[in-house]
Amino acid sequence: MINAQQIYKSFGNLSVLKGVNLTVEKSEVVVIIGSSGSGKSTLLRCINHLEKIDSGSIAIENELMVKNNEANQAIYQPEQEIKRICSKMGMVFQHFNLFPHMTVLQNIIEAPMTVKKMKREEILPLARELLQKVGLSNKEDSYPSQLSGGQKQRVAIARALAMQPDIMLFDEPTSALDPELTGEVLKTMQNLAEDKITMVVVTHEMGFARAVADKVVFMDGGVVIEQGKPEEVLVNPKHPRTCAFLSRFI
Ligand code: ATP
Ligand code: MG
Repeated sequence: MINAQQIYKSFGNLSVLKGVNLTVEKSEVVVIIGSSGSGKSTLLRCINHLEKIDSGSIAIENELMVKNNEANQAIYQPEQEIKRICSKMGMVFQHFNLFPHMTVLQNIIEAPMTVKKMKREEILPLARELLQKVGLSNKEDSYPSQLSGGQKQRVAIARALAMQPDIMLFDEPTSALDPELTGEVLKTMQNLAEDKITMVVVTHEMGFARAVADKVVFMDGGVVIEQGKPEEVLVNPKHPRTCAFLSRFI
């Protein structure tokens, strides 16, 4: 579903991604862990074309979005193609970014109506199904300001799903939440995993990684240090840097 190879990305003279490879198979849940500044968000943002890479290749569902020329510079497909390819992915951020002047239901149907040109009646059944899935059927007429952080984040997840993406990207979806609210969001994500939705999740929630991930990727200093099954990477890490990182969670 995602095949990113030899991704290099700098901001000015700060080199942030230094040859990262990431592959994600259909229905796989890949959890990316690593310390602050290791490049996790940048990697997700490059995959979703919120940032442009300097060098490397990215294919989504076997469609090339960008690849190197002979001089090892990343050459992107035309903008229209990239838009189409990226519409296969939905993203949920740390801060939910809901539209404050719209109800929960309006938040969810907005993009399908404006971007996909769907009619309100067409999208409403899916929107309500998604609200049920995230446990917020009784909140469709509420405004974001009337919701808890965990509820807002669940609306954000439903809103991303309303575009019917094949892949969901999550960047620390629970780290802005009070600890007692993270569980409900993690549970929602676990349900998505059980529905076999392909997911890439950046998180510090090691319990979630252990229980839900098919593959855990540990990044440090802009490279992937170690990756594998959660039992391998989280329980029996091979690399000293992985051990040092994980020791902070015990
Ligand atoms: P965290 O766990 O804190 O979210 P991260 O692994 O997601 O960290 P990134 O956000 O990818 O890390 O940032 C990696 C490095 O790139 C950091 O040093 C950051 O300051 C830098 N960086 C990220 N975005 C930009 C930008 N738009 N302009 C300049 N530097 C940036
Ligand atoms: Mg980040």
